[in-house]
Amino acid sequence: MRVFAVTLLSLLSAAALSARAAELPIFDAHVHYSHDAWENLPPRQAIAILRRAGIKRALVSSSGDEGTQRLVAEAPDLVLPSLRPYRTRGDIATWVRDESVSAFLEDRLARHHYVAIGEFHLYGADADLPVARRMVALARQHGLVLHAHSDPDAIERLFRQDPRARILWAHSGFERPESIRAMLAKHRNLWCDLAFRSEQGAGGQVPAEWRALLTEFPDRFMVGTDTYTPERWHYIVEHAAWSRAWLADLPPPLAERIAYRNADTLFAATTPARGQ
Ligand SMILES: [Zn+2]
Repeated sequence: MRVFAVTLLSLLSAAALSARAAELPIFDAHVHYSHDAWENLPPRQAIAILRRAGIKRALVSSSGDEGTQRLVAEAPDLVLPSLRPYRTRGDIATWVRDESVSAFLEDRLARHHYVAIGEFHLYGADADLPVARRMVALARQHGLVLHAHSDPDAIERLFRQDPRARILWAHSGFERPESIRAMLAKHRNLWCDLAFRSEQGAGGQVPAEWRALLTEFPDRFMVGTDTYTPERWHYIVEHAAWSRAWLADLPPPLAERIAYRNADTLFAATTPARGQ
């Protein structure tokens, strides 16, 4: 009886292990870890959540940058750091007219390694203000991706400033598929995250217009949770599972691209080799 129980137990754990191995890895391209998050959720626990969710890499930014640096120190294999032009949450609304933001960016870039600048909020003609222009120049100088929460007009202005910029369009601009399609057709260096959107996979099914868009641009989309408030950290595991559910409605090679390969490729140029 005991032998049977032990055998059953090892069979069960082997099954659990193979299920885990078969689980689609996720690159979460939209994670924030600001001061109110790390006060309640220390870095070790935050990393444990990412690992439990099966997140293989995460693009992390935080207002003030301190949270990002704490997470990088805890798990340099997992965390890809992005620099926000925000010192505090309040900078979201004012940063683009605040000249002191440029000095903050320059200081952090001189001290730490990043793969991106963002996520920043920038709309319309504000994209041509001096602080935004300086940010684009710094991204070009350091070879960094711009993670822009923007309308199509601001995206166009960023590309006019630097036609070779690489832009990750946060939330795909919350635009409709036909609008996203037009932007992707026009700009080959534009990628889209699907953070905080659900219509592409509600109920585990990809609607026809989304299927057509994802199929036409298989190498441009990636997923993200958007932990814009600390509570949303506890949603990361569920979001990864939800993403796997709708990605399973796509052909496996396309699902893998959206789950992690596209983000890996985008950030490969700015990510130091990790020996794996
Ligand atoms: Zn965000």
